[in-house]
Amino acid sequence: MKTALRTDMGRVRKINEDAACIGDGFYIICDGMGGHQAGDVASGLAVDVMHAELSGKPPSVGLLIASVARANERVWEQATKSKNLHGMGTTLTALCLDGEQCVIAQVGDSRAYLFRDGVLRQCTHDHSLVWELVRSGTITKEEARVHPRRNLVTRSLGTGAHMEPDIFEFSRRAGDRWLLCSDGLTAHVKDADIERVLGTGSIDEAADALLSMALAGGGTDNITLLILSDEGGGAA
Ligand code: MN
Repeated sequence: MKTALRTDMGRVRKINEDAACIGDGFYIICDGMGGHQAGDVASGLAVDVMHAELSGKPPSVGLLIASVARANERVWEQATKSKNLHGMGTTLTALCLDGEQCVIAQVGDSRAYLFRDGVLRQCTHDHSLVWELVRSGTITKEEARVHPRRNLVTRSLGTGAHMEPDIFEFSRRAGDRWLLCSDGLTAHVKDADIERVLGTGSIDEAADALLSMALAGGGTDNITLLILSDEGGGAA
């Protein structure tokens, strides 16, 4: 996989509470939440634990699920121990290569997209109030993007003793492009525009373009995006 990672505070927030990591065959983004910079602690800790749990071991769905459970435990532990960190949590979108499969673990409202044969497809379901409204047909996906309660997340990592991620599996194909991103991107950039940008130029050019568009659209939140280009052959 070739990778292009961008993360930016945005135009409004004072700190960047998103975190990301590029591992050996695994790729993670987290968007932390909680007052007094606790979101920063939650996302950073989740990424660190995932990295430690996944590094140097043969990848599998079981290992990915166990790693997410461990990250959840560790963030929850810290949140209950320290008054300043109480209530902190984070989203997590992790993509792990397992031979010819891509396995994705998902919690919260960050997203994984697959761009294949010129078509963009969102591979994860947001754990958010507005996503449920979209699913029930109450509002459209475009209305969800600007909904006043769009930040209300219904599942997150580290806010309870037990948490179950969604797991998605896809067959890899050479030429695929994957996008993992926090909601600071999708709040300002429509799927149709992401699709257009991912279809032109290198992944570095696409990453720069998407970040610029999110900032130009207002940059109201931290923006993190990680583009992966599958070069094929099953090698990481
Ligand atoms: Mn966010």
